[in-house]
Amino acid sequence: MLPLDPHADLGRRAWVPCPGCRDDRDCGDCTGGRNCGTHWRYLIGTAGSLLHLQCPGCTHLWSHETGFGAGGSRPF
Ligand SMILES: [Zn+2]
Ligand SMILES: [Zn+2]
Repeated sequence: MLPLDPHADLGRRAWVPCPGCRDDRDCGDCTGGRNCGTHWRYLIGTAGSLLHLQCPGCTHLWSHETGFGAGGSRPF
């Protein structure tokens, strides 16, 4: 088990399905597109359209490509 990232802030949450445990799979709130009170992920950071996330349930760390720019302007 990895320790939770010390930079993870409870105020920074993201609702992305965890590829590690998929605990949102059978949840009505998650599958309905609502911000579930149980199955959120730590939003550790962003890089352009990439989100760096950690699952508080299984401590899986991964990056999620949102497919759209988070900052607006691009260098190229
Ligand atoms: Zn997980
Ligand atoms: Zn849920």
